[in-house]
Amino acid sequence: MVKEQIKNNKTFYICEKCNFAYKEKELAEKCEAFCKKNHQCNIKITKHAVKL
Ligand SMILES: [Zn+2]
Repeated sequence: MVKEQIKNNKTFYICEKCNFAYKEKELAEKCEAFCKKNHQCNIKITKHAVKL
């Protein structure tokens, strides 16, 4: 399950597998689905990740 974290009044969504954070829930869900399936990250998704 994608985790939600609120920082500076903004909600971020975190992939539980790789712990990358995203502003878009959809991206975090895509990342997690990819990570679970492939046991690695998809650089096309993780380039949208943000640092918390
Ligand atoms: Zn991931």
